Amino acid sequence: MHFIDIHTHINQQNADAIRIYNLIPGENLPESFFSVGIHPWHANKYTIDQVEEIIKAHPDKCIAIGECGFDLLRSPLSQFEQEELLHAHFKLAQKYKKPVILHLVRASHIIGRIIKEYPDLTYIWHGFTGKIDIIHQLKDNDMYYSFGLSAKNEYVWEHIDEERIFCETDDRNDAISTVYEKLAEIRNTDADLLKKQIYLNFKNIFGDGLARQD
Ligand SMILES: [Zn+2]
Repeated sequence: MHFIDIHTHINQQNADAIRIYNLIPGENLPESFFSVGIHPWHANKYTIDQVEEIIKAHPDKCIAIGECGFDLLRSPLSQFEQEELLHAHFKLAQKYKKPVILHLVRASHIIGRIIKEYPDLTYIWHGFTGKIDIIHQLKDNDMYYSFGLSAKNEYVWEHIDEERIFCETDDRNDAISTVYEKLAEIRNTDADLLKKQIYLNFKNIFGDGLARQD
């Protein structure tokens, strides 16, 4: 059974893991699966049409939309413009039936209102560092949360429902197995059980076929 690295910027194969590489428009394609979108930090450099072209050209390898979202600390766009761009990503996710990988900084208070308009979509909030209250507020949405080694709030990661978790390496050079070990330690569970659960979570979103293709 594979590890799942749900979000990574490091383009490197790992036979033990299914990885979702975060592709930026214009970059060379990775060998692994990928997601494509416009990060709020670079939101003035790319267009949503470029994103759609890549999805259309690689319907099997492009398995998710994003990362996209809000960064209210660091983005060249205003909040309003970031919201417009996020709607455009969500519309692509609906059109091509793919889940969305979210990057959300200082935006916990607005995301609930927006995703309510897209109740059919599945979301993965990558690098979640929020409080447990947010998870409770969003419980009626199909929202998953991804853990990386920069996560701060251990209480959240101890208590979050196991059916809603993933692990990621993001832009760090950590081994995904190390991320699993850390999360297993926080949750006081066995790393193998955690691996089985995350694999199941992956299958619930992406179906059985993907695991065999990788
Ligand atoms: Zn990232």
